[in-house]
Amino acid sequence: MPSSTPSTPKVSVVIVGAGIGGLTLAAFLRRLGISFVVLERTAVLTPQGAGISLAPNCLAALAQLGLYEKIARNAQELLGIRVYREKECWGTIDFGLAKRWFGYNVLSIERHEFHGYLYEAAGGEGVVRLGWNVADILGLERDNGDGVLRVVSDDGREIHADVVVGADGIRSVTRRILSRSIGLKSENTIRFTGRVHMSGYTQPLPHLSTNDLGYGHWMLYNDSILTTWPCKENRQWFIGVKRADNLVNPDRSVWKGATPDTVNGVYGEKFHPFGKDGTVKAIVDRSERVIASNVFEEADFPHMVQGRVALLGDAAHSMTSFFGQGACQAIEDATVLADSISLFLDGDKNALEAYSRVREKRAQEVANFSANYALLHTARLAPLGLGKLMRALVYRLVPSSAWMWYLEWLYGHQPVSKRR
Ligand SMILES: Cc1cc2nc3c(=O)[nH]c(=O)nc-3n(C[C@H](O)[C@H](O)[C@H](O)COP(=O)(O)OP(=O)(O)OC[C@H]3O[C@@H](n4cnc5c(N)ncnc54)[C@H](O)[C@@H]3O)c2cc1C
Repeated sequence: MPSSTPSTPKVSVVIVGAGIGGLTLAAFLRRLGISFVVLERTAVLTPQGAGISLAPNCLAALAQLGLYEKIARNAQELLGIRVYREKECWGTIDFGLAKRWFGYNVLSIERHEFHGYLYEAAGGEGVVRLGWNVADILGLERDNGDGVLRVVSDDGREIHADVVVGADGIRSVTRRILSRSIGLKSENTIRFTGRVHMSGYTQPLPHLSTNDLGYGHWMLYNDSILTTWPCKENRQWFIGVKRADNLVNPDRSVWKGATPDTVNGVYGEKFHPFGKDGTVKAIVDRSERVIASNVFEEADFPHMVQGRVALLGDAAHSMTSFFGQGACQAIEDATVLADSISLFLDGDKNALEAYSRVREKRAQEVANFSANYALLHTARLAPLGLGKLMRALVYRLVPSSAWMWYLEWLYGHQPVSKRR
């Protein structure tokens, strides 16, 4: 049993998890002059995934943190998405219009690089404690705003805080602790979708030209789908989704330790216009690294605030990656939560609840959109071949300006911190 002593460290905010959400919140708290520490269970920061696309709805917040220029210099602007059904090009969605509509284009960047920028903005090793596996939070019963929360690691270390934020990802321990504390039987709010992701990041593809820069591809194959996002210097970040066959344990990746051969076993022979010989294999073989992971979705959205503990990012609302919004939503959460924490510490007892009201609605809308969009994209929106027809009509007939008009609710909402 851990025991606190007079020398137990105390901060205003403990953030559990140094992922994209946790580090963004840290950077905003730093900007607001609020004391905090980020506790990360891994000994080395290892961001999941290979690349990441950052949509306009999170870029205003990153700009406020002074990161936009740096990201833009090392990312690639998305100018268009070409949609292919097997080898037939159905058309190009002009995503370059996004800048005019929303002030920013979607940017694709190598994930470790982006994570590094957030780590620095948060305050780096001065505030991020690696190898700190949070096992429990004590003092939850004293929800009236006084007393402290005691955050305890699996090896008995302890830190005290006024507010704790669970930014600890899809299998969040914080979420489980909260569920347990209110007597919920099921501590798990996520479910496996039956599909597997694989992604990778390549070296520059030397046969491509400057005309190819900025073009992504949505490849709709008969038995799977694959997206390639353009990164700087004609590097490609690819992400595929396939139904998982013969799955032994849905809680673990089927392709743990995936190599380019694993990916080629599924996609290698398929067509891709950026493959030097017209195959996906030619792209995968230029990979610097590949990874695979199971895809989860939220079965039952938890409340994002309980007393003085808040959840953000995947800990609160995991969503399918079909529209690339998981991290963007974690950044939106962090931006709003930083202001709420600042107000709360200044004495506004309702400020954390206000965060949950605003963010639960938005995140659930985006998660639902993402799930429905996945159905459209994989032709499962309607039975009896109608799903295929609907998908073909959308991708062949909807003009780019209509896409932008529709995306206003998603990309046009760009929260920034209002506190100084
Ligand atoms: C293949 C793939 C591609 C994706 N592409 C995109 C994209 O293009 N755009 C986009 O917006 N989103 C994308 N996403 C989603 C995005 O990656 C996630 O939504 C985002 O990383 C969530 O960030 P987070 O900070 O909430 O959680 P995480 O990134 O999961 O971070 C959680 C952190 O908490 C730590 N942690 C966990 N438990 C503990 C504990 N007990 N104690 C201390 N630390 C702990 C973990 O080690 C981890 O560092 C993609 C996801 C995948 C899988």
